[in-house]
Amino acid sequence: MSDDENLIRVAVAVPHAEGFDYVWAGAGERPAVGSRVRVPFGRGERVGIVIEHPATTKLARAKIRPCDSTIDAGPIIATELLDILRFAADYYHHPIGEVVKHALPASLRGGRALAATRDTAWRLTDLGREQARAPSARLGIRQGAVLMALANETSVGARELSRRGAARAFLKRLAKRGFVEAFELADAPPRRSVSRPQGLELTSDQATALEALEAEAEGFAAFLLHGVTGSGKTEIFLRLIEKVLERGRQTLLLVPEIGLTPQLVGRLRERFGDALVVLHSALTPRERAVAWGEAQSGEAMLVVGTRSAVFAPLPHAGLVIVDEEHDPSYKQQDGFRYSARDLAVARARRLGVRVVLASATPSLESLQNVSSGRYRLLRLPRRIGAAGPPAFRLIDLQKHATRQGLSTPLLASIDAHLGRGNQVLLFINRRGFAPALFCPQCNTAEECDRCDARMTVHARTGSILCHHCGSERALRWACPRCGTERIGVGAGTERVTDELRSLYPERRIERLDSDVTSRRGALAAVLENVARGDTSILVGTQMLTKGHDFPRVTLVGVLNADQGLFGTDFRRNERLAQTIVQVAGRAGRRDQPGEVVIQTHFPEHPLLRSLLDQDYTAFAELALEERRRASWPPFSHLAVWRAEATQRQRVFEFLTKLRDHATGQNVAVRVLGPAPASMERSRGRYRGQLLFECGERNALHTLVTAMLEELRQWRETRRVRWAIDIDPAEL
Ligand code: ADP
Ligand code: ZN
Repeated sequence: MSDDENLIRVAVAVPHAEGFDYVWAGAGERPAVGSRVRVPFGRGERVGIVIEHPATTKLARAKIRPCDSTIDAGPIIATELLDILRFAADYYHHPIGEVVKHALPASLRGGRALAATRDTAWRLTDLGREQARAPSARLGIRQGAVLMALANETSVGARELSRRGAARAFLKRLAKRGFVEAFELADAPPRRSVSRPQGLELTSDQATALEALEAEAEGFAAFLLHGVTGSGKTEIFLRLIEKVLERGRQTLLLVPEIGLTPQLVGRLRERFGDALVVLHSALTPRERAVAWGEAQSGEAMLVVGTRSAVFAPLPHAGLVIVDEEHDPSYKQQDGFRYSARDLAVARARRLGVRVVLASATPSLESLQNVSSGRYRLLRLPRRIGAAGPPAFRLIDLQKHATRQGLSTPLLASIDAHLGRGNQVLLFINRRGFAPALFCPQCNTAEECDRCDARMTVHARTGSILCHHCGSERALRWACPRCGTERIGVGAGTERVTDELRSLYPERRIERLDSDVTSRRGALAAVLENVARGDTSILVGTQMLTKGHDFPRVTLVGVLNADQGLFGTDFRRNERLAQTIVQVAGRAGRRDQPGEVVIQTHFPEHPLLRSLLDQDYTAFAELALEERRRASWPPFSHLAVWRAEATQRQRVFEFLTKLRDHATGQNVAVRVLGPAPASMERSRGRYRGQLLFECGERNALHTLVTAMLEELRQWRETRRVRWAIDIDPAEL
């Protein structure tokens, strides 16, 4: 233990819970909290962030190493941001150095300076606008797509365009023909003025919600905006952001996945132009550094991003919005297992600004926070336009056989809707041709060597694939054991698409799943084709549920609802209800009524009935009651210890020892398990878990802290990979 006037505590990106203490030996004052320093570390040197000027240290005087090298003249992480990072490190029991590292763009984790260069952008010329409105020249598909992308926005950065698949070559060709022009974004002053579409009067529901939000414009307040799909939630965001912008303050808008919400980003760009930066995982390190720097400097008044954007710098924060707040992607599932939604609320509280969580299908946690008075509920129960809610219909698969996943009554509906010139969306949460390759002679399905999972047949690529670990083998229909011709059992997106193409050879039928979207630009092209009305039927996975607005879709089919009905995870019902309601929300918008057809073997299942007979709110009430009875979140708090090893026994020895130490330490905490993970063997490793459950958060965290302390002395920790997961999204 020693005191020193010149101590600094530094977060270094290593798996160590706390910061490391050094004594400042450079010229002048200690470097500011939040600034980067170079510190001696082991035999080398590391870049770290000063997180504290401590008065004392646990280290002996002789052990404290000197640091004399700073990188920044002042803090690059503001105190407020550092506070939330420390809170997150504590709450999720994750090493502070790694948490801080997560918040910084890669280039700043090293010693580089903050970049300040801007992007080149492209915009339409007058001739280009003319062409977009009334095409006269013939353009190739790709050039046409680029033109349309630009037509919807004032200008788009070159990087953004290239990410959407617009290769520079196409832009150059369009430029040669005089349709587009390039300009330096730096030349354009930050556009603070907003352009609002003329004549859009808020509905009375929207006006009421906006008024309630504006009444709390100063200080922290949390809102849950529960609005059905197409009820005008996004329009409320736009108005709010506009008002915040007028006050010279920044907005942080979190979205689940940028790639899947091009329409939202388009609308934001149209209104806020250059005041917007987008932060997400597909940016190159340099792009990320630039975007981060613009948020940091306050140049960017609107920061839109995925999960990790919750740590974006916001020197002039005025508002935080979490769109689709129920989306599981807000919870990181490995490493630093934080919930961006929950941290967004915590951060807004520290910033003293409003936070709006929005969804058509709010999480049960958020609904419970409304009941307990922590959040204020704002409702938009009606769709914009005359259409009204879609009509639901269940098809009992016990009574109707399916052909490649499609039952006769569903096929009849498809026929009817197409006949009226409308479009159809079909949702099936499996990509590939068939989820199993089955030998009727041996009575077995081919399994992955490394996981407890069946191999999925991918006919397009002539392969079989483990969707869990990605293992791939060539597809051979003949059984390797007995030579019998095997069959693909069940249907995935490929098979359904094939079947529909043979039924409707003259129509355009497209597929939307991660196999398709892994090709650059393919997502944008598929969405364009649907939006333009060229595609008659779109068959897709979970991706379909995200906020696309397809005005001519009137029929949505859910091909197999049953996968989510049974299982061990306490959230499965909630997830299924959200998926069904979200995908149903794509049916019928504006003036066209929609129809939703759900195929199931269990038409009497209470979950399906509550959704059908009433709505999501009715379902949520039922589900919350069940959670209360079973003492699951939000009526209790959970922490899960996850462990994995190549030998099953080691996993269970480790977790059992953990259980034995934890049991009885605090009677308020229930210790459950150990149990195998839902897929026990994955990537050749066995996985198990031990659950802590408690009505009081503090008691739970105290026990977790004690166990982490205990674990430090264990030799077993070297033989298993383990992690603690607070508020797990899945069990
Ligand atoms: P949500 O985000 O709830 O799905 P949106 O804000 O996208 O809903 O609104 C759905 C559609 O209705 C959009 O095309 C939007 O432009 C339009 N819209 C929103 N508010 C209004 C309004 N007050 N009057 C007319 N159209 C509106
Ligand atoms: Zn596998």
